[in-house]
Amino acid sequence: MTVLVFLDPAFPAGRVADASKPQLMATDLGVTRGDGVFESMLAVDGHPRKLAMHLERMASSAAALQLDFPSSALWEAAITTALAEFERDHSGVPAVVKLMLTRGPEGAGVPTAWVAASPVPDSTAKQREEGLDVLLLDRGYDSSVAERAPWLLLGSKTLSYAVNMAAIRFAKQHGADDVIFTSSDGKVLEGPTSTVVLAVVEDEIKTLLTPELESGILPGTTQSALFAAAENAGWQLGYGPLEPSHLMQADGVWLISSIRLLAPVKSVDGEPLPVSAELTAELSALVETVL
Ligand code: PLP
Repeated sequence: MTVLVFLDPAFPAGRVADASKPQLMATDLGVTRGDGVFESMLAVDGHPRKLAMHLERMASSAAALQLDFPSSALWEAAITTALAEFERDHSGVPAVVKLMLTRGPEGAGVPTAWVAASPVPDSTAKQREEGLDVLLLDRGYDSSVAERAPWLLLGSKTLSYAVNMAAIRFAKQHGADDVIFTSSDGKVLEGPTSTVVLAVVEDEIKTLLTPELESGILPGTTQSALFAAAENAGWQLGYGPLEPSHLMQADGVWLISSIRLLAPVKSVDGEPLPVSAELTAELSALVETVL
């Protein structure tokens, strides 16, 4: 099901590996410490979407960890190999393409880098169609900590996602589907795997809003592409700060990301939110223009 291609100097197009067999050293610091960075992107008909944005964000995540970043050409070659392999068995099936980079085996001083392509899970379409019940969970940091404490790596897409996954499990244990993190000073931040986007429609003026990057959130490639397309289509744009009351007063709230795309939020902490099929369709169509 999963295609694996390692970046390997001996294989210019990448080295295809068997995903059903062990492939990493047990001492790899990505495994033992979550010390590395990654990206997840969508590929349709063998073409990765927003590739340049993902590579750019991954390069800046790697820089934040002082991790050597393989050239874009090497990544692109490995992605092409992975998607060609994937398409052979899954023609027409959308793929999740993960780019992984770790600090490598302890003591080796050489990063480990690979590409994994697998089918998009069915649950993503279901969440898009049915919407999400969301809990607000305190991330425990204030909204100005990112600048003060760069070693927290807020705003980088590191492999240390155990906290994000724990937040989603907590939501599920409490009858919800997903999470919106808030800062300790009460600002809306992001989902554990998504960006928060709000729409406000007033006197026929349509505005899209999202929290400001300075609050220590990951710069979402889907949000950025959506905002560019929406601006061209006549929307106004706004960048935080946002508080939970803004979510409750909006005409629509979505969690958006590369694989799941736009998933409408239908409740926050059990309070129903308006879900507009019309706005979801309009914004989803704008996201679809981003190839
Ligand atoms: N915020 C976090 C914490 C994420 O992990 C992700 C994606 O996985 C996003 C936002 C959305 O980013 P993108 O739209 O680039 O997929």
